[in-house]
Amino acid sequence: MDRRLIIAIDGYASCGKSTFARAIASELNYIYIDSGAMYRAVTLYCIRKGYLVGGEPRTERIIEDLAEIHISFIYNSDIGSYETFLNSENVEREIRSIEVSSFVSRISQIHEVRARMVELQRQIGVFKGIVMDGRDIGTVVFPDADLKIFMTASVDIRAKRRFDELRGRNIDVDLEEVRMNIISRDIADENRDISPLRRADDAIVLDNSRMTVAQQMEWVMKIISQKLNENRN
Ligand code: C5P
Repeated sequence: MDRRLIIAIDGYASCGKSTFARAIASELNYIYIDSGAMYRAVTLYCIRKGYLVGGEPRTERIIEDLAEIHISFIYNSDIGSYETFLNSENVEREIRSIEVSSFVSRISQIHEVRARMVELQRQIGVFKGIVMDGRDIGTVVFPDADLKIFMTASVDIRAKRRFDELRGRNIDVDLEEVRMNIISRDIADENRDISPLRRADDAIVLDNSRMTVAQQMEWVMKIISQKLNENRN
């Protein structure tokens, strides 16, 4: 049987990581995991519980509750992708709100939250045949991943893409608000003490500012074919 790969995709906010990762998983018939959705689901839980007072997390309460926060991904064949569930409730739409986006980088700085998410992510990865996207997948979650890609694109292009995506989901947002959220999340994600966003030394950089998804797929499938052939020899 062909060896199944672990593919780690990291990069800045709204680079199209999820779209790209999902397309690769679908092409290879692998599982796709959006690790950002996990941090978003924890953030939604905290908002609902009132654990973000004036934007500051009540860290002790959050840590106490971690064992009660169950996150899962269920494939929805109608839309052809996975949806995020928080304690059995489908929260796929709610975790994309600008409110969740504006607090998620704060919640993802909590050491215990990260430790729990990384543990879950590794459990999902044991069977291989997985594409996971996030900020620390190639550096921390799967340092031995078979293929690591670090994605980037210009801020304006990223803001427009996220704006179009949210509007497409009927979520009412302002382009400038989306742009500012992306910039502030990048700063927070790159400068946090634990598992900051950075390119793994062995990651391949992909700047997709001027690339379509089809072009990105053509590019990556060549690399993946080489990897699979190497493994066969
Ligand atoms: O990928 P997405 O933009 O949805 O991620 C939301 C936030 O979750 C990021 O801005 C980051 O703060 C956090 N995150 C993280 N580590 C990951 C994935 C996401 O800290 N592996």
